[in-house]
Amino acid sequence: MSRPVLFAANWKMHLHPGEARTFLDRFLALDAPREGRSLAFFPSAVSIEAVASRLAGHDHVVVGAQDVLWEPKGAFTGATSVALARGAGAGAALIGHSERRHVFGETDAETARKVRAVLDGGLMAMLCVGETLAEREAGTTLAVVERQLRAALAGVEAHADLVIAYEPVWAIGTGRNATPADAAEVHRGIRQVLTALGFPLATRVLYGGSVKLENVAELLAEPEIDGVLVGGASLDPDQWAAICATARPG
Ligand code: PEP
Repeated sequence: MSRPVLFAANWKMHLHPGEARTFLDRFLALDAPREGRSLAFFPSAVSIEAVASRLAGHDHVVVGAQDVLWEPKGAFTGATSVALARGAGAGAALIGHSERRHVFGETDAETARKVRAVLDGGLMAMLCVGETLAEREAGTTLAVVERQLRAALAGVEAHADLVIAYEPVWAIGTGRNATPADAAEVHRGIRQVLTALGFPLATRVLYGGSVKLENVAELLAEPEIDGVLVGGASLDPDQWAAICATARPG
């Protein structure tokens, strides 16, 4: 089954509203919408509104929060609720990014609560999963990813607006990407778990981890890879536009 390709930018803790607008002016001058391709931008929470307003009317683009808390409102200093993100213009949220799990200590149970809050709030959830280097070397990659998926998706409706991003922790921001064949093998494992949980074949599974212009085409050549989630290489509008212009070979 051929699924539309999704190019997603995770800007992490970069690009304030003015910088984000400058980025988008340049990016939009270079980018041309294409059939069968959509885009997602995950700016810092403070830049969501600026990015969403600059991209208003670009129907193939969704803007998302990098993280949300499951609580709807209240005394949670520093946190962003789904309603706050949506009010700023977000249509999606990234959940369970490896930096949330490994820098901020987010557990599978917390990730699960966030996924449900995002979906209940009517946003698309992009759920990140992936193994550490020690887990890969111990041969437990598929078991780790399956545990993360089952924990996060327990009780989630199969028709949910869900995208999975497979991001091996050892490949994020390190310059060391999984080989396309290795990534495809994990993607097949993810697909099996999604199918076992009742999710449709239309559910996209992206790859993330040191994706750049030099390796994006070979990753997209794997039919199991439905797009990419990109950190560092999405911060330069020229490079990001070139990545987003990459067609799936064949
Ligand atoms: C990410 O932040 O999700 C990511 C994959 O980062 P990078 O592309 O820099 O490895």
